[in-house]
Amino acid sequence: VTVTDLVKESFDRIEATDDQIGAFLTLNEDAFEQAKRMDELAKTSDNPLFGMPIGVKDNIVTKGMRTTCASTFLENFVPAHDATVVERLHDAGAVTIGKLNMDEFAMGSSNENSAFKPVRNPWDPTRVPGGSSGGSAASVAAGQVLFSLGSDTGGSIRQPAAYCGVVGMKPTYGLVSRYGLVAFASSLDQIGPLTRTVEDNAYLLNTIAGHCDMDSTSAEVEVPDYTAALNQDLTGMKFALPEEFMAEGVAPGVREQIEKAIETLKSLGATIETVSIPSVKYAISAYYLLASSEASSNLARFDGIRYGRRAEADTLDEVFMYSREQGFGDEVKRRIMLGTYALSSGYYDAFYKKAQQVRTLMKQDFAKVFEEYDAIVGPTAPTTAFKLGEQLDDPLTMYANDIMTIPVNLVGIPAISVPAGLSEGLPVGLQIIGNYFDESTLYRVAHAFE
Ligand code: GLN
Repeated sequence: VTVTDLVKESFDRIEATDDQIGAFLTLNEDAFEQAKRMDELAKTSDNPLFGMPIGVKDNIVTKGMRTTCASTFLENFVPAHDATVVERLHDAGAVTIGKLNMDEFAMGSSNENSAFKPVRNPWDPTRVPGGSSGGSAASVAAGQVLFSLGSDTGGSIRQPAAYCGVVGMKPTYGLVSRYGLVAFASSLDQIGPLTRTVEDNAYLLNTIAGHCDMDSTSAEVEVPDYTAALNQDLTGMKFALPEEFMAEGVAPGVREQIEKAIETLKSLGATIETVSIPSVKYAISAYYLLASSEASSNLARFDGIRYGRRAEADTLDEVFMYSREQGFGDEVKRRIMLGTYALSSGYYDAFYKKAQQVRTLMKQDFAKVFEEYDAIVGPTAPTTAFKLGEQLDDPLTMYANDIMTIPVNLVGIPAISVPAGLSEGLPVGLQIIGNYFDESTLYRVAHAFE
């Protein structure tokens, strides 16, 4: 097959399915040109991503290609450069097919916060694909692309991967460059791969991981070949199952599939013990304070002067005010207000500082678990995909979705969601959480479920 064939197949599939799914916000008009050039030059490469069509979440900047963050504010924003991850994929020979729908500025768990259109779950179009990387997960699940990039601040790669029955990896903080990722909460954000298979996922991480001078939080670590771990068996491995992840809110059908997955791990020679990580119960409150605080600061740059939408106004103050009033959706405004409040003088110690203390406590709790166990296992999300509209009027219920994914971002460790069976016809995700920079172990364990 030629690169042109692959690109054509991807576009055909998008044409046939995306009216219903809504995964793409922008298609790359130059994709065929690029494919043709690659075919003509008869370029070859050892990289398995060579010639592969990929989708990129629309908060990752792409040179000359609209990058909206699914916000009215950036509806017509065309970046002047590529994010480091995009550059690395292009160097590997991958072809960007287009930009993927998401919750506005990555704030949400259902993709319903996109300013343009919701994404629908390919398994059942009356249901959400999860969020905020809903387009990234749905496009892979619907076979539009085999590889996509998402971002994960509090679960936004893993939860949609779980809801759509695909593999999603949130790498260790600092492993993948954030240069060119539009910042939501800079101390939590990570870019990561979504794919059909664990092996594809490892290839994609191989390509995007590694130090980058343009990101001051980028780690100086050796990047191993993540596929090397895939065929090692699980004999003798020790897993921890936090009781807090199997508590009341977990739907019976999810619990059943996770228990089955645990039996599978045991049958492969691993041991599993129940542990308690008490600080996990503070995770949601701490996260929504910290993430909103960072967001209120990061989103200050959208002022109507530097980027995107500029409202008609008489004074400079009005330009700021009206641009932000018209450009941001409700959820984004809610977070900016919450974050600004939490950071204001007089409240800082009570909220922001307390939340940071919780974060430190959680780091210590998780470190203790990793002294004894190779990895932590549990559900990725408490339920399977819910119906569109079901949680829209209830932000707190929506926030509660993130209980199992958020601790991982607060601590900065990696985690993968891998499909582990169906509950009433809908995919359930098994989450495997590892120690810092131990992505290889996660791939090794996840591979056992394929
Ligand atoms: N659902 C979480 C939120 O709304 C996570 C978002 C994310 O990971 N980008 O903040």
